[in-house]
Amino acid sequence: MTAASKPFSPQEGFFWKTKTLEEMSNAEWESLCDGCARCCLEKLEDEDTGKIYFTHVSCKLLDAGLCACKDYSNRTELVPDCVRLTPENVRTLNWLPPSCGYKLVAEGRDLYWWHPLISGDPNTVHEAGVSVRAVAPAETGAAQKAATILKSARQ
Ligand code: SF4
Ligand code: SF4
Repeated sequence: MTAASKPFSPQEGFFWKTKTLEEMSNAEWESLCDGCARCCLEKLEDEDTGKIYFTHVSCKLLDAGLCACKDYSNRTELVPDCVRLTPENVRTLNWLPPSCGYKLVAEGRDLYWWHPLISGDPNTVHEAGVSVRAVAPAETGAAQKAATILKSARQ
C-alpha cells in the first residue's frame, strides 16, 4: 500500500505552505490575518454543546468602519480579554472563525481568494462580505449591556 498523495494546491511554494507557523517572521505572521475582525466580536459559548455563537457586538477597541483595532500595540493592556494569537494557541482556540487565516494555515488548508495575500488587495475581505466592517456596534451603551449579559452567560 502506498501513502495517499497530498492534493495539489495552487498555493504551493508560498511561505505559508513552506514554513511552519513557528518558522515565520513577524511580518509573515502578521500578514496571515485577513483583517476580517471577526475575532473582535463578543462570543457566546453553549455550555452543553461547546458551540460558539458570534454576536454583532464588538470589542470597545474595534473601529468597525475601518475594521481595525484602534490601539493594536497596546491591545492586551487595554483589553485584558484580548487574546494574543500564537502558533500554539491558533491550533487549539475554538472560537476563531473557520475562515481565519491563522486557522486555515494551521490546518494545512489554502487561503481563500479574498485573503489579501492572494488577492493583493486588503479590501477584498470586505467586498466578499467576510469582515465585520460597519456591522458591529461598539461595546458601549446598549451594546455594552448586551455584551455584559453575554459575558455573564459565559461564566
Ligand atoms: S479572525 Fe483571524 S483573520 Fe480574522 S481578524 Fe481575527 S485573527 Fe485576523
Ligand atoms: S483589543 Fe483590538 S484586537 Fe483585541 S479584540 Fe479588541 S479590537 Fe480586537
